[in-house]
Amino acid sequence: MTNPMMQSLYKKPALEPDWEEARRFHGHLGPWLALGMKIGQEAMTVLSARPHFGTRVHVRCRLAPPVSCLVDGLQWMTGATYGKRNLIAEEAETVHIRVEHVETGTAVVFRLVPGAPEAMGRWMGEIGDEPASYHVFDRPADELYTTEVVPGRSTE
Ligand SMILES: [Zn+2]
Repeated sequence: MTNPMMQSLYKKPALEPDWEEARRFHGHLGPWLALGMKIGQEAMTVLSARPHFGTRVHVRCRLAPPVSCLVDGLQWMTGATYGKRNLIAEEAETVHIRVEHVETGTAVVFRLVPGAPEAMGRWMGEIGDEPASYHVFDRPADELYTTEVVPGRSTE
């Protein structure tokens, strides 16, 4: 039943960030990229979904850098991509990210807490892009965003 073309060649999600690889992929490191990586990592951990083909990602945010850099962080950590059409990005004023487990329909919804975008801009200005990236990634999640699990059809 499973189309072999839809099988990931990579068995395990890349849950530990490889900053060198992320830099090579995206071109630079920045706090919004790091935020996308952090949220993607948490989503994959919560959902235990297969990377690349086992997840669907729906991002709503400003579709302009630096905010939209978070889309690449999400692609990097979940393996869901624009090209495979299992990642969709839509223009919106405020950030809203939904990551879904394809088989169970269970989803995790992330929303930024008030002040988080301003804090990221401040860190970028005060300590620079790369240190701000590591700083964002190491923050406790609830300083940056809320996480809500929406149960799907089954919980297998
Ligand atoms: Zn960027």
